[in-house]
Amino acid sequence: MKIKSIKVVRIKLPDIKTTKIPDRSSWANFSKRAMPLNYYSEFSRLPQKIPGNKLDNIWVKTTAEDGTWGIGQCGFGDPVISFINNIISPLLVGRNCMAIEYLNDLIMKVSYRFGSSGTASTAMSGVDLALWDLKGKLMQQPVYTLLGGPVRESISCYATSDDLDWSKELGFTKFKISNPAHYIEGDSGIREVITHVDNARKIIGFDQDLMINPVMSYNVEFALRLLNKIKPYSLRWVEEPLIPTNIDGLAEIRKKAPWIAIATGEDHHGRHAFLDLVEKKAADILQPDLQWGGGLTEAMKIHSIGESAGIATIPHGGANLPFGQHFAMAAVESPMAEFWLGSDPGIPLTASIPGTPIPINGKITPSKEPGFGIEIEEKDIVEKT
Ligand SMILES: [Mg+2]
Repeated sequence: MKIKSIKVVRIKLPDIKTTKIPDRSSWANFSKRAMPLNYYSEFSRLPQKIPGNKLDNIWVKTTAEDGTWGIGQCGFGDPVISFINNIISPLLVGRNCMAIEYLNDLIMKVSYRFGSSGTASTAMSGVDLALWDLKGKLMQQPVYTLLGGPVRESISCYATSDDLDWSKELGFTKFKISNPAHYIEGDSGIREVITHVDNARKIIGFDQDLMINPVMSYNVEFALRLLNKIKPYSLRWVEEPLIPTNIDGLAEIRKKAPWIAIATGEDHHGRHAFLDLVEKKAADILQPDLQWGGGLTEAMKIHSIGESAGIATIPHGGANLPFGQHFAMAAVESPMAEFWLGSDPGIPLTASIPGTPIPINGKITPSKEPGFGIEIEEKDIVEKT
């Protein structure tokens, strides 16, 4: 079966209305979250205050010559749309839509000239996910069956949220909180993080996993001083403490602070970046993003690299979307999945993509419908011009 077209499309998603009144506004609207740009004090650590920081997701539709179609989603808007339309689509149209490994290798080989990661790997992700959805529909099987079949009954999720009371009420038993400080703030930043971690432990106690997510805003010196001070709080992992290029720095933190695991990967793209992390002993947990780092095919290869080294792969935001749910269902060394909980406390959880199961008591069972089980009708798909 040949690929007839690969197109970036717009999808009219249903408006989700609720009559419930929230208890309060979500942490996602006001919690300080440091990012690399906060090196400069002119940029606020509050959400949505960085100009031009557009991370719009885009949809990709692949259609086979018999009219069967699949959809995938990836990040980063216009540059990615251009890469798909101008580089990937002309390369893949007319080829066998079932040959995902071959199609991916074509994209990978043409992407080296563009630096492989960033725009190229994000575009590759959207196309790869759409191809898996299409293959699942053509074979009338859920994607996790095509990946080798289920390795667990359901997926255990942790909640990424500072609304810990709400996360607990929803039945989560593992939690990841934000990080308020950038290394440029020195000791006052360290004190702010300690207070934040202390408050979290007061709410959830010491019997449950707690993680912290600095999102590239530490340097080695700040990280080591902080991790020494928060050692009594027994955190499960510190996530992405350094910028992705500082692999030696990650390895140094991992060696000098063995009481806490180093998790990283959402800003590392493609299998080669993860091989580097593993070979240099720079990470305990690999966290590829399926919408940025090359898609599901690449994530399974990253999982194999980790599995061979005895390291778990827990994709970034994996439990929020069908793509990560199908990964987690089929990947042996993926003991839990991240659920990013950014909705207002008191409002029942809803999925951002129709047909995507939401966690119940911290567990998810993916859709058994063909492909990724995304419930979108063709009439709601609008082709972009
Ligand atoms: Mg993260």
